[in-house]
Amino acid sequence: MTDSTLTTPHTPTDLPDGIRHYIDGTLVDSVDGATFDVLDPVTGRVYLQAAAGKKADIDAAVAAARRAFTEGPWPRMLPRERSRVLHRVADLVESRDARLAELESFDSGLPITQALGQARRAAENFRFFADLIVAQADDTYKVPGRQINYVNRKPIGVAGLITPWNTPFMLESWKLAPALATGNTVVLKPAEFTPLSASLWAGIFEEAGMPPGVFNLVNGLGEDAGDALVKHPDVPLISFTGESSTGQLIFANAAPHLKGLSMELGGKSPAIVFADADLDAAIDATIFGVFSLNGERCTAGSRILVERSVYDEFVERYAAQAQRVRVGYPHDPATEVGALVHPEHFDKVMSYVELGKNEGRLVAGGGRPAGFETGTFVAPTVFADVAPTARIFQEEIFGPVVCITPFDTDAEALTLANDTRYGLAAYVWTNDLKRAHNFSQAVEAGMVWLNSNNVRDLRTPFGGVKASGLGHEGGYRSIDFYTHQQAVHITL
Ligand code: NAD
Repeated sequence: MTDSTLTTPHTPTDLPDGIRHYIDGTLVDSVDGATFDVLDPVTGRVYLQAAAGKKADIDAAVAAARRAFTEGPWPRMLPRERSRVLHRVADLVESRDARLAELESFDSGLPITQALGQARRAAENFRFFADLIVAQADDTYKVPGRQINYVNRKPIGVAGLITPWNTPFMLESWKLAPALATGNTVVLKPAEFTPLSASLWAGIFEEAGMPPGVFNLVNGLGEDAGDALVKHPDVPLISFTGESSTGQLIFANAAPHLKGLSMELGGKSPAIVFADADLDAAIDATIFGVFSLNGERCTAGSRILVERSVYDEFVERYAAQAQRVRVGYPHDPATEVGALVHPEHFDKVMSYVELGKNEGRLVAGGGRPAGFETGTFVAPTVFADVAPTARIFQEEIFGPVVCITPFDTDAEALTLANDTRYGLAAYVWTNDLKRAHNFSQAVEAGMVWLNSNNVRDLRTPFGGVKASGLGHEGGYRSIDFYTHQQAVHITL
């Protein structure tokens, strides 16, 4: 028997009437009263208005964060005291994971089970940086008879955090946790497509005992609120995750102020499957790698390169498995691919699907899935025989669309893998140990997974090369980004 609530759109109960900014411990509207529409991707219905922040709202938020930094207790608290607050944040996020997942899934179209995983990861990010900050050790050097030198690590000030709409709550936590753990104060500008889950942070921080002004949130469009945050002279740091083209603009806008920048940008990551690989595992992992999170994942393995001797078998089996991926309503626990985040993004992904029909051989998907005539649903789509010059091979689609290309030699595989402007992740499938390491070390990617899926230890560096990013986050690298390391020298 089918549960009919799983085959019709779902609206969570107790949605807020609207979304406001959170400045200096208070929920406020925009100074000019402006709002923007927020819609749910399944029905396309505008379900609430969010405050549309502009320069005046950013000015107020930065002033509050600056006051909290210069006068408030947060930067001066012992790491252990800040750590306790962050652990309470983690506890609260964990205790609300089901509600968070429900709201995130509704607002972004992510499958509910995957949204739940992301909520738990957000809690883990807070726990991780809460632990790391108390374990922080800094260098001391002694030149015998002459000098002692030590590092005095200090928070920098007001950190501007600008985040995208894919896994929004989790990606916000990835910046909030280290920025706050190190004693900075923050202004968060979440993505305008998905402001719902971000609106929960205010209550969580208040309950956890965060002093007012330490965490501030301004909603709004990138070109208004985001732009004003980047250009604000009292914001010395910008941590940005989003498209490479937006990153370039932010880089230019931050230049006059010589701001510290951390940029996590786009990707077009290759998965390279050699003939000696465990094909069952490679197929399962590369299906997950591009279709989980609706394909709206920066590290999606969206180009699969397959050694020619197993190419035909791989394509046939891959296409069959892609057709079995279950598309459904985001709130259905059986759903593997939900609804894309927004009609605008749906149109973009669909334009690539149409383009792909001329650039490759369509072997699965290619449009809306059966039974979903409305909403932003896209069937898992696979193009084979895609040439490296094709736009679908070169450009980030950010949806459930993958291209497969054959290769003959290791050298050709490496050339193909490196043949895009991006360099975020790579996935290598082979049982030859030497080849695995040689290939991984040569591939132009910030992160490589060998015979494995996209699972990360939070201590490892996260970041891309080429157009995929600037700098690294993760573990102590995040602590370094959010702190000054002052060198103090004493002559003996
Ligand atoms: P986007 O660049 O359109 O927007 C990201 C954020 O930047 C939003 O909050 C937006 O409002 C803001 N913004 C836009 N213009 C701005 C401006 N001129 N000044 C300041 N802020 C501005 O990206 P998106 O479409 O929200 O996200 C998808 C992109 O993010 C993809 O390219 C994806 O690969 C990338 N991404 C990268 C990572 C990573 O870690 N490398 C992780 C997730 C997503």
